[in-house]
Amino acid sequence: MSQKDYYEVLEVSREASADELKKAYRKLAFENHPDRNPGNAEAESRFKDAAAAYDVLRDEQKRAHYDRYGHSDNNGGGFGGFSNEDIFSQFGDIFGDLFGFGRRSSGPRATQGDDLRYNLEITFRQAAKGDDIKLTIPRNVTCPLCSGTGAAEGSQREVCGTCGGSGQVYRRQGPFQFATTCHVCSGRGHVIPKPCPKCKGDGSIEESRELTVHIPAGVYDSARLRLRGEGEAGKNGGPSGDLYVVLRVGADKVFDREGQDLLYVADITFPNAALGYRLSIPTLDDNIEFDIPKGTQSGTVFRVQGKGLPYPGEKRMGDMLVEVIVKTPKDLSAEQIELLEAFELFAQKKDAKLSSKLKKEMKKFGKVILGE
Ligand SMILES: [Zn+2]
Ligand SMILES: [Zn+2]
Repeated sequence: MSQKDYYEVLEVSREASADELKKAYRKLAFENHPDRNPGNAEAESRFKDAAAAYDVLRDEQKRAHYDRYGHSDNNGGGFGGFSNEDIFSQFGDIFGDLFGFGRRSSGPRATQGDDLRYNLEITFRQAAKGDDIKLTIPRNVTCPLCSGTGAAEGSQREVCGTCGGSGQVYRRQGPFQFATTCHVCSGRGHVIPKPCPKCKGDGSIEESRELTVHIPAGVYDSARLRLRGEGEAGKNGGPSGDLYVVLRVGADKVFDREGQDLLYVADITFPNAALGYRLSIPTLDDNIEFDIPKGTQSGTVFRVQGKGLPYPGEKRMGDMLVEVIVKTPKDLSAEQIELLEAFELFAQKKDAKLSSKLKKEMKKFGKVILGE
């Protein structure tokens, strides 16, 4: 357990600002990093001491406490117990990005690749029945030549000499200090003297990949399908991001859809509505027939169970909702007009002057309508 003075460990004054502390810690962490000093127990001990010191001094409360009580307080007991893994996980953000390393053995800090989004239009029927769709997706993958380091074979990335790895350069003007992004390394903190010829130092290359996306039957519009690990390549050996396929389901000529129910509009004639009718309607698979009762009103909705869309990942099916619309005839012939007028007279139970020909017709028609 370290009992060294934290300020001495970080080689700063007791009045050091947060920035100075951070800088001092970064410098020590960099110099004594296990990757740069393999097997050097002294460096490792300095590395841990620096982390322990920085952990306390970066926190205003802990620092005030330390200033007052030093190591004597029981708080101090835990600080020496840092493992390297603790240090990397706690301070990885501090030197991981800036020095280009963070995790012991895996070199530069591993970061997960970005997620990708792909908008995919599918037809109504593809959504209803499910499908497997081949996609060609451009994405960045880790450069196979340099394994993502961006450095040509036999060379390495180096800490930027201009900014010392911080990615920023400081400029003084009177009492003020300004930080600007280092123009040599563009803020990365490292430079690649000999860039990989394949990726030009990016560490990744664009590649088109063929993928098969499985569309589950009954999928919704705007559904997001997640394809794990099919996004952008991770950096420095980190895991790849995910690919999100966002579905746009097209409209259908025959059906509308409400959730997992299919909507179908059936036009019928007035006599069929009045007398009852055996209706033939399409489903996703074939035609089915069902009887609508006599006296059905226009706008009545019938439910045919289990003839809708499957619930994704379930055995259950939605229903088919059939809305019956009684169609009013247009463009009637003179005879049809006469018949309808006669029918209306009959409906009002008024006898009127009918031609003998029509009377004959009406008798037949009336028998059917009135069931005589
Ligand atoms: Zn730089
Ligand atoms: Zn490369």
